[in-house]
Amino acid sequence: MEIRIHGLTRNYYSEGKQIKALDNIDLTIPANKIFTLLGPSGCGKTTLLRCIVGLEVPDGGEIYIGDELVCSSAKKVFVAPESRGLGMVFQTYAIWPHMNVFDNVAYPLQTSKTTQDEIRKKVGKALSFVQLDGFENRPATKLSGGQQQRVALARALVAEPKVILFDEPLSNLDAKLREETRKELRSFLSELKITAVYVTHDRIEALALSDLIAVMRAGKIIEIGDPKKIYFHSDHKFVADFIGRANLIKGKVSEQQGDHAVFSSEIGSIVALNGQGIATGQDAMLCIRPEFIQLAPEQVTHGHNVFKGKMETLIFIGEAYEGEIRIGETLLTTTIEPTANIGEGDTISIAFDPDHCFLLSA
Ligand code: ATP
Repeated sequence: MEIRIHGLTRNYYSEGKQIKALDNIDLTIPANKIFTLLGPSGCGKTTLLRCIVGLEVPDGGEIYIGDELVCSSAKKVFVAPESRGLGMVFQTYAIWPHMNVFDNVAYPLQTSKTTQDEIRKKVGKALSFVQLDGFENRPATKLSGGQQQRVALARALVAEPKVILFDEPLSNLDAKLREETRKELRSFLSELKITAVYVTHDRIEALALSDLIAVMRAGKIIEIGDPKKIYFHSDHKFVADFIGRANLIKGKVSEQQGDHAVFSSEIGSIVALNGQGIATGQDAMLCIRPEFIQLAPEQVTHGHNVFKGKMETLIFIGEAYEGEIRIGETLLTTTIEPTANIGEGDTISIAFDPDHCFLLSA
C-alpha cells in the first residue's frame, strides 16, 4: 500500500528555540517496497516514522495510507495508531519478558474479535514465517537477541498489516548477528510483498536492505534513489559523503565530452561523468570512492586520469589495505587489495576510470 505525505511539518521547542524536526516534507513511499529513511542523528527520521504510525501529531500537512487520509491538521483528521492497520518493530524489540513466545506474538490479536482457534493458526503462521516453529512455549527471556527480534517481527506481522515500520531494529545486536539478521529480514520482506518503512542511521544497513533510500538532513529529504544511484551517482555532496567514504576534489568544469566533462582540479585534469550537466566554467566537486582509485601499472605515468602520488599511510585491515595517497596538497583515501606489493613512502601512479568518478554541484 502506498503512503503519500504532503507538506508535513513538526516543530519542537527547547530552551526557547524552535527545532524544525520535519520541515515541509513531501514524499511518496511506493507500495510493496523496502523504503529506508537514512540520515545523521537528529535529522528527523524517527519523528517522520512516528507521524506515519500516529504516535506523533504533526503541526501541519497530510498523510495518506493508501486512499485513507489518516492525519490532517487543516481537515481535523487524526486516525488513532491502532486503527491505521500498521505493524511496528522497535529498536528495543518491546517484547513482554513475562510472556512466552506464543503469547507475545498473539498479543495484538487478543483485543480483537479473533477466536482462539484463529489466533492459534495466525500465530503459528507468523512464527513459521520467521522460522521459530516449536518455540511457542519458550519464555521470551530465554531467547537470543536475534530470536527476540524475530519474535518482534512475527508480532508485527500477525495482524496482517498493510504496512510495516521499523525503527532501527538491528541496532541492539552485535555486528555479526546484525549482518545475519539483515539478510534474513531482507528475504522475509521480499517474500511478504509488503510496504516496509525502515529507519536507520547505518548506511551499510540502508544499502543492503532497501529498494529505495531517502536521505534526510535537518528535517528535509535531500535525495531519494535506489542504493546504487545513491552510492554511485548521488546528486548532492552531502549524500555522496554520508552514504560512503568519498574523496571530494574541488575544481571547475573546463570542457564537455558527451556524458562526461573535463574537470580542472588542484591535482590536474580529470575526465568524469557529468550526470547533472554542470556547465563549462562552473565550480564543481569531483567524487571518487576509495575502491575506484586504481594503482596504475608502473609503465603508465601519464595520460587521461593518471596521477603520480606518494603512499602516505597504509593500514592492513584484513580484507584490504586502507591507504592515503598524497598528491600535492590533496590527500586521497583508497582501498588496496591485501596482496599489493606496496609500502608507506612509495611513489605510485594511480588512475581513475572516468565512469567511476562523478561531478557534483559545488
Ligand atoms: P536519531 O538517529 O538520533 O534517533 P532522528 O533522525 O531519528 O535521530 P528525531 O528523533 O526525529 O531524529 O529528532 C529530530 C529533531 O527533533 C532533533 O533535533 C531532536 O533533538 C528533536 N526532538 C525530537 N523529539 C523532541 C522532543 N520531544 N522535544 C524537543 N526536541 C525533540
